[in-house]
Amino acid sequence: MEHNNSAGLRMGRGRPTPAAEEPSPVLGSTGAYKAEVKPKIGSAPVAAAKAGGTIAGDGAGPRILIVGGGIGGLTTALCLKQRVPAAHITIFEKADSISASGGLGINLLAPCIEVLFSLGLEVPLRETAIETSALILAGSHDEHIKTDPRGLAAGHTMPQLSIDRGQLARILSDAVVDRLGAEAVKADHRFQSFEERGDHVVARFAREGGGTTEFVGDALIGADGLHSAVRKLFYPHEQKRYTGWVSWRGLTPMASAPYDGRTMTIIGKVREDDGRVAASYGQAFVCYPIDEPTRKRGGALMNWVAEMAVEEVPSEEEGWLLPASKEEVAAAFAGFCFGPIVVASLISEATTCTKFVLYDRDPVQQWSFGRVTLLGDAAHPMLPFGSLGAGTAILDADALARALESETTSGTQGVPQALELYERARIESANDTVLKCRKGALHKPLTEACVRSSRRLSVIMFDGLNLDSDLDSDSDSDSN
Ligand SMILES: Cc1cc2nc3c(=O)[nH]c(=O)nc-3n(C[C@H](O)[C@H](O)[C@H](O)COP(=O)(O)OP(=O)(O)OC[C@H]3O[C@@H](n4cnc5c(N)ncnc54)[C@H](O)[C@@H]3O)c2cc1C
Repeated sequence: MEHNNSAGLRMGRGRPTPAAEEPSPVLGSTGAYKAEVKPKIGSAPVAAAKAGGTIAGDGAGPRILIVGGGIGGLTTALCLKQRVPAAHITIFEKADSISASGGLGINLLAPCIEVLFSLGLEVPLRETAIETSALILAGSHDEHIKTDPRGLAAGHTMPQLSIDRGQLARILSDAVVDRLGAEAVKADHRFQSFEERGDHVVARFAREGGGTTEFVGDALIGADGLHSAVRKLFYPHEQKRYTGWVSWRGLTPMASAPYDGRTMTIIGKVREDDGRVAASYGQAFVCYPIDEPTRKRGGALMNWVAEMAVEEVPSEEEGWLLPASKEEVAAAFAGFCFGPIVVASLISEATTCTKFVLYDRDPVQQWSFGRVTLLGDAAHPMLPFGSLGAGTAILDADALARALESETTSGTQGVPQALELYERARIESANDTVLKCRKGALHKPLTEACVRSSRRLSVIMFDGLNLDSDLDSDSDSDSN
């Protein structure tokens, strides 16, 4: 059965109908690898396959083809290597190296840190990441609303970490290359389509220089992110909606760290009416330091996200890294401040500034289709309100490896059952998280003022941040 963008697809459960054609024993050449690539920050050494072929399989373990070398795909490879050592794992990445957009921060909550530490990544993560100690919620006129402890300080057994996305990708890809070998990562392989043939799946990839190449596996994992090509095959008519929100992100070096150098601050727009304080939907600013070596020197590398309601649909397509003018963003946030955080200055002094137009998609009810499944943003794209996207992908990776461990103990049998087990374990909670992130957006800018008789008595509730998901056991979640 051929699966491409125009093909009608089987959406039901159970094993796929075997194609009349027998599986081809070898597709293309046997894959002569040519090692290229110099290791550098944010990229892993990779082997470029000039031609596709079978993934060497000895029948002792399943051949797993992972599409996408992002946070979800890399973590899946590491979890699988740990739980199903006999598996033959290959990651196919469309870019010419593994390097998640560096220069932008990401915040990871305690439950997914547990997975990453269990993979033996505690030392490199602690060397690089900031252990978030507290979350300050503030109003835009320098009003302190509340300070909550985070991570270990909040009683979790694991810390909450803030890190540069590029550094996280480097740590994961270094571990993949170290444990699986450089040949397990195939850069410049853009997934196009797949075909299920009996007890195999054949995946087709395009190469930058032209031409395509095919690989045979026992399972195909679509971990290819927000614009997943694998998901598109199953949901070709999916619609996305503009949320009415645009966010800008940037990174600003600060000579001296605010507070303890580990604190996250969220400032919601508050307006004053007749001396009373009221909520004003429309703007919020989130910032947190992300670099431990800078903190140790007394400074801070401050990651920030400025969010604003924009009624008119922006002309730009959806994307994390649209070019943006920091002067315009600084002007829109003029006057926002809380203690040492003077928002317009922080934005003006940024070394990077990018724009993200926020679109929303409905959760889907099926991820696993025979020998193919979806994982991470490909399975559950969600709005970036709550620090939950990457963490959810990491929990998926752990669950998928556990399912394959329990269902495929004898050789390559049981792969479709494992993918169904994985889906059952994760889909409800992940879809719930998607909906809670959507609710978070509707309640933007994070603050809602319950006005009492005077400014001093005003209580501001962070309603949109109460994302009670499997990742977030605190009463207030954080924003990306
Ligand atoms: C700037 C920014 C800040 C964020 N902040 C947070 C945060 O604080 N906390 C949090 O939990 N989440 C955050 N997120 C969301 C989080 O990064 C995503 O949810 C997470 O990366 C999802 O992992 P993934 O592996 O599914 O997708 P990705 O990490 O996006 O990886 C997908 C990979 O697939 C590759 N790919 C795409 N198409 C193909 C194809 N056809 N063939 C082969 N390869 C392909 C891509 O190149 C990419 O490497 C943030 C995201 C961004 C961009």
